[in-house]
Amino acid sequence: MSELKNVIDGGYCIGCGACSYTSRDSVEIVEDEYRQYQGRIKLGAKSADLDKALEVCPFSNKGPNEDEISQNVFNYSEGSYTEVVGFHRALYAGHVSEEALRTKVTSGGILTYTLSELLKRDLVDAVVHIKTSEKTGTLFEYGFSRTPEEVVQGAKSRYYPIELSEVMDFIRKNDGRYAFVGIPCFIKTARRMCRQDKVLAERIHFFVGLVCGHLKSKAYADMLAWRAGFDPAEMKTIDFRHKFKDRNSDDYGICVEDINGNKKELVARETPGTNWGLGFFKYEACDYCDDIFAETADIAVGDAWLKDYTNDSQGNSVVVVRNKTIQTILNEGIEAGNLEFNELTAEEALMSQGGGFRHRRTGLGDRLLLKQKRTEWVPKKRVDAVSVKIPLLRKLIYRYRIYLREKSADIWRDCSKSLDYAAFDRRMKWPTNGYSMLIKLGVQIRKYRQGS
Ligand SMILES: Cc1cc2nc3c(=O)[nH]c(=O)nc-3n(C[C@H](O)[C@H](O)[C@H](O)COP(=O)(O)OP(=O)(O)OC[C@H]3O[C@@H](n4cnc5c(N)ncnc54)[C@H](O)[C@@H]3O)c2cc1C
Ligand code: SF4
Ligand code: SF4
Repeated sequence: MSELKNVIDGGYCIGCGACSYTSRDSVEIVEDEYRQYQGRIKLGAKSADLDKALEVCPFSNKGPNEDEISQNVFNYSEGSYTEVVGFHRALYAGHVSEEALRTKVTSGGILTYTLSELLKRDLVDAVVHIKTSEKTGTLFEYGFSRTPEEVVQGAKSRYYPIELSEVMDFIRKNDGRYAFVGIPCFIKTARRMCRQDKVLAERIHFFVGLVCGHLKSKAYADMLAWRAGFDPAEMKTIDFRHKFKDRNSDDYGICVEDINGNKKELVARETPGTNWGLGFFKYEACDYCDDIFAETADIAVGDAWLKDYTNDSQGNSVVVVRNKTIQTILNEGIEAGNLEFNELTAEEALMSQGGGFRHRRTGLGDRLLLKQKRTEWVPKKRVDAVSVKIPLLRKLIYRYRIYLREKSADIWRDCSKSLDYAAFDRRMKWPTNGYSMLIKLGVQIRKYRQGS
């Protein structure tokens, strides 16, 4: 049996589309009943094709892991290496100075700034990032921006399934210099694709990464449309990260618009199912991922979830710089007053992703152990399958999150079939309350320990 079947059947497929690009005759990308993209091995698939697909799949054991890729593409003697943050020349927290631009971006706008500069300096001909889709039933997809104005239009984080096979096909057929933007697993897969495909390797000049906690299925956007009072089937677009002028940056909004021009603004914190710790509609693969800071990307940008920065309503980014040219671009931006940056230590960068770090290190060790105990196939990770050192309550929280991920996906699928979305809240009420109780208990125990 091909290892690709293990990846897909084992729940490790993130639906990236790399297998389909590499071996289109043998693998396709489909949207499954949970509204997520998944690879599907075609009838009569050739084993040589599946082997080729394994070399690019981010969850297969066949190609190099994040550390091996990173060591190959970066010169470690020119920077520092810290576990989890990865290789870095510099670490910052900050934002673009232009206030008008800041309102249009997710956190500090550093991705949009960097991508625009790559175009302005004629270092690339096009940026490959996530844009509004014209396809029926799909809100966002990979597309190309060729001017800084188009890059700004494609700003904002899309917590939504995407796949890269079509844009990679385009790059292969159309000469040019490209900057590819992706969440960590997509950057890893794009790097692996470049090892296999010399044309892609020649044409993709920059790999621009987003820090990543997890990816959501389309059901997340559907749920938000329904909470906004719209029919999910009539949703036109959604802004998952709307900035409020009078709230902290981690207290953001969600704006939904339907095809009839109706708009609704939700406050994320007041909207059930949006707490990222709950992990509603999370891809299962994300529970087996150990790359938070897009360790193979030339630059990785996330939210500066640090108390000195979240009180700024307009948002700040945490920035990991790995590429020399990008370092020069940012240095010049700082000198010209286009960027307001403070240097960070690796510990501070890590602290900005505290929850994700715990879930993807100690939590991952426990989840791997669980799978091993059930003698299920697991991909090789940079984290060992151990859980002995995890306090019992923490272990319970990690395992409860698996339950919530599965439950939310199953119940939403059932509710959307019967068009009885209200049943989702009824059926998720007790599972969600159970999670809140575990978290509250953890807080009480911490307070007690600090007091004693
Ligand atoms: C699924 C997902 C999970 C994330 N999880 C975390 C997290 O746990 N912690 C954290 O600190 N940050 C996380 N981020 C990153 C964060 O949301 C911001 O993208 C980051 O702070 C960069 O902000 P910015 O203002 O520089 O981005 P912007 O200037 O707004 O630019 C964002 C760029 O990323 C592109 N883009 C948007 N969505 C995607 C996507 N799905 N795949 C590829 N490219 C995309 C856009 O097209 C745009 O070019 C996540 C992002 C995504 C998409
Ligand atoms: S993770 Fe990507 S490459 Fe691997 S099976 Fe899924 S779609 Fe294919
Ligand atoms: S958590 Fe990992 S596997 Fe999931 S989307 Fe993010 S980078 Fe990909």
